[in-house]
Amino acid sequence: MRIELVSEHANPLGAVGGVDAGGQNVHVAALASGLSRRGHDVIVSTRRDDPRLPHRVVAPEGYVVEHVPAGPPTEIPKDDLLPHMDELSDHLKTRWAADPPDVVHAHFWMSGLAALSAGRAVDVPVVQTFHALGVVKRRHQQDRDTSPPTRIDQESQLCRSVDHVVATCRDEVDELVAVGMDRARATIVPCGVDTDLFTPGPPRKGGPSRLLVVGRLVERKGVADVVTALADLPDVELYVVGGPREDGLALDPEACRLRELTLRNGTAERVHLLGARSRSQMPKLIRSVDVVVAVPWYEPFGIVPLEAMACARPVVGSAVGGLLDTVVPGMCGVLVPPRRPDRLADVLRELLADRPGREAYGAAGLARVRARYGWQRVCERTERVYDGVLARTDERSLGVAR
Ligand code: UDP
Repeated sequence: MRIELVSEHANPLGAVGGVDAGGQNVHVAALASGLSRRGHDVIVSTRRDDPRLPHRVVAPEGYVVEHVPAGPPTEIPKDDLLPHMDELSDHLKTRWAADPPDVVHAHFWMSGLAALSAGRAVDVPVVQTFHALGVVKRRHQQDRDTSPPTRIDQESQLCRSVDHVVATCRDEVDELVAVGMDRARATIVPCGVDTDLFTPGPPRKGGPSRLLVVGRLVERKGVADVVTALADLPDVELYVVGGPREDGLALDPEACRLRELTLRNGTAERVHLLGARSRSQMPKLIRSVDVVVAVPWYEPFGIVPLEAMACARPVVGSAVGGLLDTVVPGMCGVLVPPRRPDRLADVLRELLADRPGREAYGAAGLARVRARYGWQRVCERTERVYDGVLARTDERSLGVAR
């Protein structure tokens, strides 16, 4: 199959950890690699955000990344990209008219807008993965939500117009149904984890207990809640990975906010902000702790809990979004309500005192990830969605269905 992935802001070859670079970059890279490995021709179109980028790059895994001009070739916050989507769409339309892919899979809502308009012009089916939903963001961020005001309506329109939606978890499907999508238009295919890179290691022994949080340094990831809980967990160390590189942390507003909190609540000596780390460093970092904590206020999917499980580490997560599907409470970890540092502290205290419990959670998490969340399996399931969409498109063009 000739497959085009459109990922307007998240370049699969980009560095991860910054405000707008996280799970979607990792997801698109792994999907493109996995689909190439399965013999498909894969192109990822992403916005050119640096004038030095070549027009096309062949990734070591065999897929092609095309840096498409859409607005000035500089970094632009993703919430300011909407005005440039027509330009992205025009470029896609021109290329696809000459050389159409079999199927297009758009990632994030603005990619969906660009892909749908180009796809309809040249009669190529479009599959959509949202990765995050405006309606959820608005609920939690309220007047601090910087998304374009049209986002919620446009997402609602998009999920009813594309050929199919690939949602990453049950919660996302419920949210989409609530904004008007017919449930039959979506298939759940979760994000995956690279089980060759994220591998288990023996539990650590000795020294103070260690917790790890990994993620973009944005408020909604709940790192401040972990720092607050830490005040009630004497002697426990917290490592935080994400944000700019370590030498840029002093200028990062969220890092400064966290530092101030540690000074106020007396945890400064025990909270270690490490900044962004590369993918290759991540497994070792995860294996160097006792528990991985992921307590976002909301979370469309959350790849980090899977990475922890793949390294056989227990997860203490918040009971939101994709974590409700991935982290089975009492089996691979514990789920707590979001924004409840008091509950988090209680759960962590108990788990850190229970080594056999942690080991059991780690082993069960590892088994769960291997059975369900390996990229090969995720790519197979995504491919089946594409097959279904193509079969329906063929039927329609032959006048068989509807
Ligand atoms: N990540 C990384 N380096 C960092 C911070 C994060 O490689 O410094 C990776 C992390 O391991 C995970 C992804 O970025 O694979 C974050 O994905 P998740 O779905 O948890 O969060 P999102 O960024 O989508 O909100």
